[in-house]
Amino acid sequence: MRIGLYPGTFDPLTLGHVDIIRRASYLVDKLVIGVAVNNSKSPMFSLQERVNMINEEIELIENEFKIQIITHPFENLLIECAKDVNANIIIRGLRAVSDFEYEFQMVGMNRVLSNEIETVFLMADNSYQPIASKLVKEIARLGGNTKKFVPNSVYKRLINIKSKKK
Ligand code: ADP
Repeated sequence: MRIGLYPGTFDPLTLGHVDIIRRASYLVDKLVIGVAVNNSKSPMFSLQERVNMINEEIELIENEFKIQIITHPFENLLIECAKDVNANIIIRGLRAVSDFEYEFQMVGMNRVLSNEIETVFLMADNSYQPIASKLVKEIARLGGNTKKFVPNSVYKRLINIKSKKK
């Protein structure tokens, strides 16, 4: 059984992430979405909110691909998280050149920590390539429209945050 771990902060989930989840669903029998607690990044959304937003989206994908997709919050090392969930592959998304250097280093160091898990990189559809959670948050904070970058359930929450701040 191929178990994939797709880790990230997902603050918040974007259409870029959803596209990677769908592509990963072709490759594995079970997909675990590792939601990093990542308090050092001061997330806009709490861990529970980030998990809830992902859960709402994966239900549809699960039904479409007939595979099991679960969320798994984690605070430990990625390699340890992969072992905890019995993952044999780690899935990461890759955007243009910006992600490459960091990911290259991560794979290199993770290989030293554990040689049993391969990292697989997937690229989102061209239309989703430029999307980044960081920019979505910035647009939302400045009152811009994020509808084309995030799933509907996330969009509604971003509007809520904006109106609460007023
Ligand atoms: P992290 O804090 O680990 O970078 P993110 O939530 O920002 O977490 O991203 C999780 C993963 O999804 C990373 O591998 C990132 O490169 C990938 N990703 C994010 N946005 C996109 C996108 N638009 N296209 C492809 N991959 C993406």
